[in-house]
Amino acid sequence: MPDLYINGKWVDAAGGGTRTVLDPANAQPLAEVAEAASEDVDAAVRAAREAFDAGPWRSTTAAERGDYLRTVADGLQERRGELGRIESLDTGKTVAEAETDVDDITNVFRYYADMADKDAGRMVDTGVPNSISRVVYEPIGVCSLIAPWNYPLLQMSWKLAPALAAGNTCVIKPSEVTPLATVELVKIIEAAGVPAGVVNLVLGDGPGVGAPMTSHKGVDMVSFTGGLETGKRIMATAAADVKNIALELGGKNPNVVFADADFDTAVDFALNAVFFHSGQVCSAGARLIIEESLKDRFVDELVERAGKIKLGRGQDEGVEVGPMVSEQHRDKVEGYIQSALDEGATLRCGGKRPEGDQYRDGYFLEPTVFDDCTREMTIVREEVFGPVLSVETFTSEEEAIALANDTEYGLAGGVWTSDASRGQRVAGALRHGTVWINDFHPYVPQAEWGGFGKSGVGRELGHHGLDEYRETKHIWQNTAPEPMRWFQGEER
Ligand code: NAD
Repeated sequence: MPDLYINGKWVDAAGGGTRTVLDPANAQPLAEVAEAASEDVDAAVRAAREAFDAGPWRSTTAAERGDYLRTVADGLQERRGELGRIESLDTGKTVAEAETDVDDITNVFRYYADMADKDAGRMVDTGVPNSISRVVYEPIGVCSLIAPWNYPLLQMSWKLAPALAAGNTCVIKPSEVTPLATVELVKIIEAAGVPAGVVNLVLGDGPGVGAPMTSHKGVDMVSFTGGLETGKRIMATAAADVKNIALELGGKNPNVVFADADFDTAVDFALNAVFFHSGQVCSAGARLIIEESLKDRFVDELVERAGKIKLGRGQDEGVEVGPMVSEQHRDKVEGYIQSALDEGATLRCGGKRPEGDQYRDGYFLEPTVFDDCTREMTIVREEVFGPVLSVETFTSEEEAIALANDTEYGLAGGVWTSDASRGQRVAGALRHGTVWINDFHPYVPQAEWGGFGKSGVGRELGHHGLDEYRETKHIWQNTAPEPMRWFQGEER
């Protein structure tokens, strides 16, 4: 079946391009999909433009758009198992994780469905006699939504649900590495009766498809989740037309553990923080920053448990962690492991591909812990995006905060302590968009997500996540107009 969705029709790439999608657990072909090019992007943007400027979407009420989103949420739940399996095959993550993603995005669609008609604007009490002042919100227009490969369905839904709730039309592109579940999401949107042209799907890589989605004159906004360097390029391209942008970029996230933390829970979560989904998580707690007096005992336990994590195919029973998403990405992570060795970090476990026939063809990498790291090391400064933990130590609260903030990113961080005041104090001092106290990783649709510094521009989720997709307009009415005679003039 053709798998580009443009103006309500499933079509092949105009140039006939195709791409083979691989299973990261064994490098075998999973599917053959269309590979679009700029002419397909042009058709998709034109369809979205037409649907926005002249189509029925503009005349839908916010409540009706909310109903569409609720129907999409129901459709996601009806196909939960199937979607979870497809996402697991495509990304390598476990089925249980992928199903949790489906539940999370169902909540995101429901949250924005409910919000769609709850915040139409406000009257402003100006105090100026004979005036009515009203602030209203309007959709921005045509939005290009570009997602990465680590959470394909989830990252796209964080954009799509608020964009549609606000009344925009969209051209969407998943990562070329993991396109399969997004195709199914669009089928669910089609089945929900969303009018033709409102959501258009193009598949392909960054240079061939993502770049024209960013530079196209018919696009009003670009919302992107992905790497820092791509984000910079997108920002620069969007600047030519002063397009609205929202960027969710990388992170180098500190997990700060004080000696008074609950030991078992903090070790358990330190593992989760970095090894969940093989560390391919933007908020991965890849920097363990631990109080010196606790370090040896804590790291010994961590290494012991990391060595037992069960690697395997995400679809197999009992597997805890899958492979890296691609050969290219594993090569990149291995390059970082080599840099840590070269720069003098102490390898405590992992650092290599697992042995055994079941791992031979997939892109597996063992959970890896580096001790004795310093803030100058590449492994501490750059986003590795793999199952690699660096360990640094501190002796005072001030030093812990300084280390945790010593990053060009600022996405997320954790603080572990049994001292509630200290937890709040440190959380307040961290320059990161999300801070967890005695926890790691949870997010909810009601609370904003995004980063300080080079972790991005703008916020997803929560109220702000809807505002990203709205223009704000002030409407002023003079209810008793009469000449003002500011300019009295003079005889010349
Ligand atoms: P990437 O930047 O390589 O690609 C992301 C998307 O952008 C893909 O769809 C890709 O095809 C597209 N793209 C590539 N070049 C482009 C260009 N020139 N113009 C337009 N689009 C282009 O990132 P990735 O490797 O897919 O994802 C990993 C990165 O995503 C990590 O850095 C991670 O931290 C980040 N991420 C951030 C968040 C967050 O919430 N902040 C969430 C998930 C992932």
